[in-house]
Formats: sequence, C-alpha cells, structure tokens
Amino acid sequence: MSVRGRVLVADTIAAAGVEKLRQAVGVDVRTDIDARELLKVIGDYRGLVVRSRTKVTAEVVAAATKLEVVGRAGVGVDNIDLEACKHHGITVVNSPMAASVAVAELTLAFMLCLARRVPFADTRMKQGEWPKKQLKGVELDGKTLGLIAVGRIGSEVARRAIAFGMRVIAYDPYLSADEMRVRNVEPATLETVLSAVDYISVHTPLTDETHHMINAAAIDAMRDGVRILCGARGGVIDETALLAGLESGKVAGAALDVFESEPPGASALVKHPHVIATAHIGAQTREAQDRAGLDVAAEVISALSGAELRWKVV
Ligand code: NAD
Repeated sequence: MSVRGRVLVADTIAAAGVEKLRQAVGVDVRTDIDARELLKVIGDYRGLVVRSRTKVTAEVVAAATKLEVVGRAGVGVDNIDLEACKHHGITVVNSPMAASVAVAELTLAFMLCLARRVPFADTRMKQGEWPKKQLKGVELDGKTLGLIAVGRIGSEVARRAIAFGMRVIAYDPYLSADEMRVRNVEPATLETVLSAVDYISVHTPLTDETHHMINAAAIDAMRDGVRILCGARGGVIDETALLAGLESGKVAGAALDVFESEPPGASALVKHPHVIATAHIGAQTREAQDRAGLDVAAEVISALSGAELRWKVV
C-alpha cells in the first residue's frame, strides 16, 4: 500500500477495480450502504467510489470532512452534486471511455434488429408461429445513417456503420468540419440530418439544449419510414411525439435503451410493436464493466497520490 487513508466503495464495481485499489490504499467495500449510514461513516474516508446507485448529495459532501476524491465508475455524474464537491475542494473523476464500444455495439444491434424485426420474429416463433410473409425486412447496406453527436460513442457507431456499407452524416455543433471528417462522418446541419436519412441515432448528453431535441417538429421533418435509435439519455427524445410518429406510420421503428423516466413500465411506447426497448443496458458488458472499474480505480489512486488526472470532471 502506498497511499495513506481509506477509500469507500459504495456501489458494485468490477472485482478487478477493487483489487487495483487494494494494492494501493485501504479499501472498504460496502455496496449495500444506505444514505443514512453513508452520512455516518463518510467522514472517515479520503476517497469514495460510486456508480449510479449512491447519491453524493450536498449533505454527504458536508459530512465528508476528509474526502478528496469521488470516483464514478461510468460516465454520468447526475448522482453527484458537482457544485458542492467543487465548493469543498473535492475532485470528481469518472471513466468515460469504458462504455463506448459497448454502447456502439448495442446501437448496431438495434439497427439490425429494426431492419429485420428480429425480436418480433423471435416472439412469434416462441408462440409456435412461422412469421415469414409479414417479415420482409430492409438492408443497412446503401442506407444513410444520421448521427446526432459524434463524441466517443457516436464515432464508434460511425466506424461500424461504414463497415456495413452505410453512408454516415452527422450534426455536432461543438466539432469542426475537420474533426468530424477525422471521425469518418460527413458534417451536416441538423435540418439535413433530420430530413435526409433512413436511420437517426442520438448520442448527445442530456442538456437544456438537447432536451426534447427530437420532438414533434423534428419528427415531422424526417423522411417517411425513418427509424430512430437512442442509447444516450432519456429526455433527448420527446416520447409522446415519438409514439405519435409510430402510430401515424411516419416512424417505421424505434429502438430505445433510455427513457424519460426509468424504469418506464409497460408504457404504450414500450409495448408498441415497432419499438425495441432495453433496460439502460448500453454499458452492461463484462468488458465495459471491467474497464470502468479499472479506469476509475486508477483515477482515484492518481487523485490521492497527486498524480496527473485523465478524466477530471471537477
Ligand atoms: P461525449 O462527451 O464523448 O460526446 C458527446 C457529444 O455530444 C460531443 O461530441 C458534443 O459535442 C455533442 N453534443 C453536445 N451537445 C450537442 C447538441 N446540442 N447537438 C449535437 N451534439 C451535441 O459522450 P459519449 O461518451 O459519446 O456519450 C454520449 C451519450 O451516451 C451521453 O448522453 C452518455 O450519457 C450516454 N451513455 C449511455 C450509456 C447507456 O448505458 N445507454 C452508456 C454510456 C453513455
């Protein structure tokens, strides 16, 4: 052990990540700790590792008199009060690279499943049917994919879609045209992405700007028979507008891993026959979870030993 003090692992992370922490620092793993108990014990720790279950509220931060770093295994930091951390001089780090390939692969799975209606076919087969006539699908080859955002995940999606013979255009106002070309996509306006593609895949964070970006007007501007995918964050797509688009036939299919309210229950959208729904599983691969645990452990150790940080949020 080379780093003084202790780290509390409050949510489940990959065993490899816990082991990496243990080689460097004292570690307590308490993945069933509740909010009240966390408040009682947090004052003992220099480091705290969470995923999305544990809420690092202003109250927790105020009680965390020795805390220097909060590590989030994964990307989203919605469960951490960043302002409070900043105010108390607590560094927050995450592991943003860990899930990119997993989410990109799920997006490709979504596209293929929408094109061939694989879940529908499987459900019917299990009911003893032979659903052949009503299942004339489409191919991805030669189609255009429109990406909304080409960050870590969007660019991994682009590489894979190109391998399937798709043309990929994208809208990302925070990247230059050259940066977008390096990521293998043709830069386009939002209007063009909405109106000129067969598949639209959303890969933005949820911000004031992106909230309900895919709304009734946006869907209206799309091609008839468009297929829409979202594995980013619930709230970027206006679910009421999407359901209306599906019901009118304007939208041929949608595949969603994230919802405005999670879990969404058996909502009309989830139950729609042309919707494929999954339970926010984008990052849920063995490889991505291992990577997230290892990356966040390395980052927490760096923070506690004063080394340079790769993924500092605040
Ligand atoms: P990233 O930060 O690498 O990329 C985000 C991109 O969005 C950036 O290129 C940015 O310029 C662009 N962007 C921001 N505002 C925009 C706007 N108004 N219009 C168009 N583009 C805009 O993030 P990432 O790692 O690629 O993650 C993308 C999304 O996927 C995030 O919302 C993240 O939370 C989500 N995610 C979901 C899962 C899952 O389990 N389904 C797992 C990991 C990440």
